[in-house]
Amino acid sequence: MRSGQPSLVAVSMMILTLACSTGGSQRHGPPSPPRTRPEATAYRETSRYADVRNFLDSLSVLGLPLTFGSIGKTTEGREIPYVIASRPAVATPADARRLQRPIVYVQGNIHGGEVEGKDALLALVRDLAIAARPNVLDSIILIAVPVYNADGNERFGPQSRNRTDQNGPELVGVRANAQNFDLNRDYVKADAPETRASLAMFNAWDPDVFVDLHTTNGSYHGYALTYSPSLNPAAVFGGLYARDSLLPVLRERMRSRHRREVFDYGNFLSDERAVPESTAKEGWATYDARPRFGTNYYGMRGRIAILAEAYSHDPLDRRISATYAFVSEILSLVGERAASIRSLSERASGQPLAWGRAPDSLQMVPIRSELVLTPSTLEVIREAVEPTGDSSVTEPGMRRGFRRTGRFTPVRMPVFDRFTSALDRIPPAAYVVAPGDTAIVRLLRIHGIRVERSDSAWSARGEAFTIDTVISATRLFQARRETRVQGKWDRALQAFPTGSFIVSTAQPLGTLVVYLLEPESEDGLATWNFFGARLKKGEKFPVRKVLDLSRRGRSRPRRSSTVVNTIPPRNE
Ligand SMILES: [Zn+2]
Repeated sequence: MRSGQPSLVAVSMMILTLACSTGGSQRHGPPSPPRTRPEATAYRETSRYADVRNFLDSLSVLGLPLTFGSIGKTTEGREIPYVIASRPAVATPADARRLQRPIVYVQGNIHGGEVEGKDALLALVRDLAIAARPNVLDSIILIAVPVYNADGNERFGPQSRNRTDQNGPELVGVRANAQNFDLNRDYVKADAPETRASLAMFNAWDPDVFVDLHTTNGSYHGYALTYSPSLNPAAVFGGLYARDSLLPVLRERMRSRHRREVFDYGNFLSDERAVPESTAKEGWATYDARPRFGTNYYGMRGRIAILAEAYSHDPLDRRISATYAFVSEILSLVGERAASIRSLSERASGQPLAWGRAPDSLQMVPIRSELVLTPSTLEVIREAVEPTGDSSVTEPGMRRGFRRTGRFTPVRMPVFDRFTSALDRIPPAAYVVAPGDTAIVRLLRIHGIRVERSDSAWSARGEAFTIDTVISATRLFQARRETRVQGKWDRALQAFPTGSFIVSTAQPLGTLVVYLLEPESEDGLATWNFFGARLKKGEKFPVRKVLDLSRRGRSRPRRSSTVVNTIPPRNE
């Protein structure tokens, strides 16, 4: 379903739907722009899946520069709709490339109970597309995916059960998808069909910027929204650019143009946890650097990613307006910096291309990270809460026996907002995967990584990793047993059988290749137990390294490798 031109039957159906969704006031004359569910219910309700579909259908008959489609199907078979907004309209990645504009991919509702991203995104697409005057749609391409976790969205239940720390609306969906996976822990293992659909969009469109819309979980702070760049130290391009160059400007614009305070995502240490190995009793700490989280993952692809977290203790209308303002400021800023952002993407994709060929080009790839324990001291706004003296619940999301005071105080405290590398690896020319490891290869290809297959046996100078420790989690996490491997790489001539898979690091996603395949990576394929019982003390790790791929070609010209794309993606 990718079309900007609905059929006549569809048009009349849409007009009927539109009449219903706007209270029947539009029986005659041209259709008017649709309203979101919150707009139509004085912000008492959020959109169901059908509301999102109806809204998009109503937009599609207005002759706007929009293209509608589906990124793929959810576990329960729902299409996950997207809408692309730009002037002129684009329908394909090739159209987009011709325009030479930055592409911004904004995703709502990855956690089904965190609803305002979905509703803000629908309203924003509508408002940008119907605006008569030129706007940001003349300088960027926006891909909006408002209801990513559509199955989770449909499990409507009381907010007091599905989103305990959230100030309404009364009925919301659940966090997980229909397989009970947290989609924001699935970006490496890609077990969910939703994740695979999302990765296919990343591969096809290669957006310059990815924005993931959420709602916070706890601390009473003074910010309408908190944000985070990619936190992984391997996100050397988009991660640092977002942190040091985009987000400070967005913060200032949210203050001056919208009178909203925003800040780096985090929680007070007193609410959340202590920072290990830090003596700080109070402070503000961010979350995690691993790429199982979408925005960290996207940074590792060499692009910009921004996590946005509306404030769960604000009511729905304020959360929607904060998210709307923040996303529209991101779009504007990306439009203003179109040339530098596109050049950043090009440099990120080009950097690994000489790996394995030119020793000077090599850049260490961080594969483990740790929180920087020398934080800056900054003012963080805190709201005081006080005991009520009884066990009443004063508002949704407030713990029993407490109430908010509306007293906001800036407090100076250490802010832990960044990670540094704890272990680096030099990229080899290639990793070699054993012929039988088709599940590994399938997953790499789902990530958009190019894998070749050798059509003969060969040997090359390389390294094998001898395992000396395997630590497996005692409990399943997201249906997998997380595993940590330790050991040592040794250099020797390696012999590879016919049909071995060759994963060159000299490709745009070279950093991701290293991170996923290194045995000691903190969130790679070994972590998610893709190698199963083969990881044993004293054994060799099933993936080996080749240090110089070009020699193989020179000494054995006949034994070239061929690209094999016959293994279709499927759920392991
Ligand atoms: Zn979330």
